[in-house]
Amino acid sequence: MRTAEVKRRFLTHFAAAGHTVAASAPLPADDPTLLFVNAGMVPFKPYLLGQRTPPYPRATSVQKCIRTLDIDEVGKTTRHGTFFQMNGNFSFGDYFKEEAIRLAWDLTVKPQSEGGYGLDADRIWATVYLDDDEAHALWRDVIGLPEARIVRRGKADNFWSMGVPGPCGPCSELYYDRGPAYGREGGPEVDEDRYLEFWNLVFMQYERGEGVGKDDYPILGELPSRNIDTGMGLERMAALLQGVDNLYEIDETRPVLDAAAALTGIRYGAHSGPSAAESHPDDVRLRVVADHVRTALMLIGDGVTPSNEGRGYVLRRILRRAIRAVRLLGYEDPALPELLPVARDCMAPSYPELAADFERISAYAYGEEETFRSTLRQGSTLLDRAITKAGKRLPADTAFKLHDTYGFPIDLTVEIAAEHGLDVDVTGFRELMAEQRRRAREDTRARKTGHADTGLYRTLLGEHGVTDWQAYTTLTTDST
Ligand code: ATP
Ligand code: MG
Ligand code: MG
Ligand code: MG
Repeated sequence: MRTAEVKRRFLTHFAAAGHTVAASAPLPADDPTLLFVNAGMVPFKPYLLGQRTPPYPRATSVQKCIRTLDIDEVGKTTRHGTFFQMNGNFSFGDYFKEEAIRLAWDLTVKPQSEGGYGLDADRIWATVYLDDDEAHALWRDVIGLPEARIVRRGKADNFWSMGVPGPCGPCSELYYDRGPAYGREGGPEVDEDRYLEFWNLVFMQYERGEGVGKDDYPILGELPSRNIDTGMGLERMAALLQGVDNLYEIDETRPVLDAAAALTGIRYGAHSGPSAAESHPDDVRLRVVADHVRTALMLIGDGVTPSNEGRGYVLRRILRRAIRAVRLLGYEDPALPELLPVARDCMAPSYPELAADFERISAYAYGEEETFRSTLRQGSTLLDRAITKAGKRLPADTAFKLHDTYGFPIDLTVEIAAEHGLDVDVTGFRELMAEQRRRAREDTRARKTGHADTGLYRTLLGEHGVTDWQAYTTLTTDST
């Protein structure tokens, strides 16, 4: 079943159950606490928080998401993309646990000939929060799931909150057992690649107070109006229904992977087994390329452009990682002109604006590749020499010079060093950066007390703030 059809069946199922179909919000989040939308509920936050009256009691959507937090997992697990689509259904003070569980279960196991996904019910596991006896009983008695496949899990996995005082509640996740070829037996707690999480149901029923730690906060009481927020990974369901091993092999991503394999002459899969643990490094790189090229396409499509800060830096990092992965596979010419059009052709059927806007999108992507190629050309000699000289750790002043003179972001230096088995004195690097900032501030102060017209500096500072390279350490958006 093609990904577009997985999506269509989801929306049809929930529309038939009285949900209003809402369009995906753009990737840049309209929310001061987030760079990017990272879950289907983000555009509905004002309704879930009770700040605005929802125009409908139930809604469904397929939301474009970015999770930079998962960037290091890409290609190494079978299930993490930096871009993915989250299919969701939402109840704003309307139905609660029982209907949410029933609706998810029905679509999952309904035969494909009747519009469902037709997954084998005997391979499905459910998790519930430790003390959520109500959800446990619903799975056992209403759905008929054997108790052996209902697992109670703790706060880290099965309790949701926004990280701040407000609504919170237990979750229930659905997993599919892909069988012994994918890993060890024993349920989701033993192996999350064999037991693939495909759907998370969040039951917002409590109000939480201020916390001391991430998972340590008081529950103040029941919410007056209870909500449902669910998220089903579109790519994960597509992978299950297409019988492929991972997200990077579904119809929306595999053509990019194949194009990268053709460019580099690598035979994908020749040296790997189906489980993530058996992956050959070259195959991991091809998956990174497939993921990142698509993510870059979607980000630029939604108006993000490469820069050194915030969203633009996330895009820059994604593009550069894709380009480096291709180079490490042995292809040294510009790669994006060969790959980006393939990603466009995969995604344009669902997002036609990508085709209409491709000239603009590709100009940014190809321009960034050119810039990066010249950065690499200029800095590589210094870096190569330093790597040969260094023992186990690349010194801070090398990282600083690469950054200051050649425009190497620190995480690029860290990644390249790691490929040679070295780490980088990142603490020392940050101290040098801080020192440079201090000097710049003193200069500004000196100028202010001198005869120079400082109005311009003040205006600039007011508009842009002090340049803070923290952007490199805080790339990640908070994950739910
Ligand atoms: P995992 O434990 O596998 O990292 P999660 O618990 O972080 O997933 P949720 O926050 O519950 O994921 O998101 C809801 C659903 O979105 C998941 O059940 C999964 O199907 C999908 N999903 C989450 N993260 C990703 C990702 N990085 N790439 C693709 N799909 C994802
Ligand atoms: Mg996760
Ligand atoms: Mg999980
Ligand atoms: Mg989850």
